[in-house]
Amino acid sequence: MEFIETDREKPLCPHCEKPISQIKATRIKAKFGVRFLYFCDHCKKVLGVSHRKGFWMG
Ligand SMILES: [Zn+2]
Repeated sequence: MEFIETDREKPLCPHCEKPISQIKATRIKAKFGVRFLYFCDHCKKVLGVSHRKGFWMG
C-alpha cells in the first residue's frame, strides 16, 4: 500500500459529504487527561477523537 500525501484533494465529511476545509476541535476532559473531539465545520458531526495529545495535529 502506498501513502500519498496531497493537499489538492479535500476529504469529504462522511456525514454531510461536503469538503472538509477546516476541522474544528473541542477539548474534552477524559479520565486520563485531555482529549480532543474533532468535528465537521458544516454539520458539526463528530469525525473523531484523539487518543493522545496532538494525535491529529502532529
Ligand atoms: Zn459534515
